[in-house]
Amino acid sequence: MSELQEELRREIEKRRTFAIISHPDAGKTTLTEKLLLYGGAIHLAGSIKSRKTQRHAVSDWMEIEKQRGISVTSSVLQFDYDGCRINILDTPGHQDFSEDTYRTLMAVDSAVMVIDVAKGVEAQTKKLFKVCSERGIPIFTFVNKLDHYGKAPIDIMDEIENVLGIRSYPMNWPIGQDGQYLGVYDRRNKKVLLFAADTSHGQQARIADVYEPDDPAVIARIGEENFQALKDDIDLLDEAGEPFDMEKVNAGELTPMFFGSAMTNFGVQDFLEGYIRMAPTPQPRPSSDGLIAPDDEKFSGFVFKIQANMNPAHRDRLAFIRICSGKFERNMSVWHERSDKLIKLAQPQQFLAQDRQIIDTAYPGDIVGLFDPGIFGIGDTICDEHHKFKYADFPVFPPEKFARVQAKDTMKRKQFVKGMEQLTQEGAIQLFQQAGAGMESYIVGTVGTLQFEVLEYRLKNEYNVDIIMQMQPYEVARWLAFEDGREVTPASLKGADRGMFVYDRHQNPVLLVNNEWALGWITDNNPDLLLNHVPFDK
Ligand code: GDP
Repeated sequence: MSELQEELRREIEKRRTFAIISHPDAGKTTLTEKLLLYGGAIHLAGSIKSRKTQRHAVSDWMEIEKQRGISVTSSVLQFDYDGCRINILDTPGHQDFSEDTYRTLMAVDSAVMVIDVAKGVEAQTKKLFKVCSERGIPIFTFVNKLDHYGKAPIDIMDEIENVLGIRSYPMNWPIGQDGQYLGVYDRRNKKVLLFAADTSHGQQARIADVYEPDDPAVIARIGEENFQALKDDIDLLDEAGEPFDMEKVNAGELTPMFFGSAMTNFGVQDFLEGYIRMAPTPQPRPSSDGLIAPDDEKFSGFVFKIQANMNPAHRDRLAFIRICSGKFERNMSVWHERSDKLIKLAQPQQFLAQDRQIIDTAYPGDIVGLFDPGIFGIGDTICDEHHKFKYADFPVFPPEKFARVQAKDTMKRKQFVKGMEQLTQEGAIQLFQQAGAGMESYIVGTVGTLQFEVLEYRLKNEYNVDIIMQMQPYEVARWLAFEDGREVTPASLKGADRGMFVYDRHQNPVLLVNNEWALGWITDNNPDLLLNHVPFDK
């Protein structure tokens, strides 16, 4: 083994790269903050919090981006814990940015799912879970807010299985009945952890009183009845529960589940340690040249996020690269697959908690931000010029909101088109053209309505273009094809006028309709029509 390969293996072994998924308010921010606290990356919890204030207002959202000098929509938090280097790829909490979240999930090796113990599996968790399970990555569950009233753990397990289709393995088990919990039993270490009186409001790292299960103090504190109920539960879990199976965890079929309370720090450290022990190191990735192993000496990575104009004065764009193999070195030259060009990676940025800093080296699993002269697009591969290949394409996430957009001042058409193309390349919007309509307006598709406000704000601030925007009543887009390959046009498609007939950027025909029901008439009347929620493979 070469020296470089030894170095790579050592570094890869240390790395854990993940994202946290949850429904808003389940406690993702609080948990992230506490993980950083244990990692020593921040001294007092609370510093991440501030950026969430007024997250619904677009201008504030932009302001926050500017103040922080780093993208709110996809920041990367890195810290060391117990010899491991942890990369948390932060994802936006607002569901209108779920597309950003979906893409970020393409760049992680595992995911942590936070569930509110009182609410169970919620809508947004379900959507995000689906993206993870389609990738087949391991998912770890943190059931939060155990300090509050909550559902019975067995009901949470059932819900996870029935709603998400994944079985769970409780690593610890809540102590208490009727939704009032006093602590947990740690099944692996066979210890009882009880909530300690917290005098620091969760700002310090000490939170639980730990006992041997047979310590008389346990019964004294939780009472005979709770003690007996705990014993019964544990016996039942050990005998009748799903056995722990690391292979199933790795295949995304079984989720290790931890109960705790991020706010009071209860169970957070145990979760972090359990997670580090079980979570995958950076994994091989499928490419046009087969699986690329992370310890391959030749560098490679891909772009999963582009954030433009973080500093309007400089018009900078930052491309976020997930390193997949080899060693990243500042000023190295790499081959950019899409443009077939060699480019020099100067001024790479890395993120340590909130601060950007220039870095010299990075390894598989790490994320670097690169200043982008305008050549990168989402999903682009960069790699060593002596081993050229392309990583698998990103999935396309179907747009659900549509608006007609045009420049108010026709003299500004050039800037308008430039801005629209830029935002499309970033993946913030999808562009369509209405069949038969003139070129002065676009139909814009997004995953959420807030994106339209962002679009308006950014065109104005970055391209000095005012736009006219008319929301369209459609919520469903379907790419169209006839089985026999004949062309789908507004004339050849029966009922084309029941929705809006548009073309995507590659001239593929797409029909926009109000809802799934409206599709019924179309399919009934066009028996050989094929419909797809993303473009058909060519
Ligand atoms: P996010 O939207 O998922 O990022 O959720 P936050 O971390 O902002 O938490 C939402 C709310 O739940 C906030 O008011 C938190 O203080 C609160 N919260 C978070 N963790 C806990 C917990 O363990 N117990 C209780 N009682 N509240 C919590």
